[in-house]
Amino acid sequence: MAGKVVVIDPGHNGGNSANPAEINKKVPAGRGQTKACNTTGTATNAGYTEHAFTWDVSVRVRELLAAKGIKVVMTRDDDTGVGPCVDKRAAIGNQSGAAAVVSIHADGSTSPGAHGFHIAYSAPPLNAAQGEPAKNLATALRDGLRTAGFATSTYIGTNGLSPRADLGGLNLSERPAALVECGNMRNADEAAVLSSPQGRQRYADAIAASIVEYLG
Ligand SMILES: [Zn+2]
Repeated sequence: MAGKVVVIDPGHNGGNSANPAEINKKVPAGRGQTKACNTTGTATNAGYTEHAFTWDVSVRVRELLAAKGIKVVMTRDDDTGVGPCVDKRAAIGNQSGAAAVVSIHADGSTSPGAHGFHIAYSAPPLNAAQGEPAKNLATALRDGLRTAGFATSTYIGTNGLSPRADLGGLNLSERPAALVECGNMRNADEAAVLSSPQGRQRYADAIAASIVEYLG
């Protein structure tokens, strides 16, 4: 485990909402498409933001992985900046030679009763890393979160896995990459877990253990 590199990509950023021109500019998103540089992310009904959630969980995951001797690279340094754009985030993963790249998000569906986590990965794959390695990483994360007692999504994907062709960060990755949507911030029960430090530690414990399992 020691010496392996893992990239943790905390979704969004605290300065995004105040800088729409910068985050709305189009960047390459893979498969010949362009997409907005980044987005503001969602929030709970009480106003706890996704960017704060992803940053907090990512810091907790970094601490757990670093304790195993894993070198953790983050795609942003704090929760007060802007971006980086999705193509830059993918480039950070590619340039680091990461054994795994894990993006951390939470969803914001207002669909009644919608809850649960899902793991997205690039499909159909655009390179070898996006094939079996990415699918295995996504599956390890799904299994780890399920073992930790988190329910799989009732409204996206199948059994907690969601193959996607439209996510720029995953499309542009040349390393095994997966994106964790930890839960639905607009669901009251799940918002309570996502908003609590204890809940975020549970997510971090499960994500870190899944990455360690994947790295084998
Ligand atoms: Zn997000």
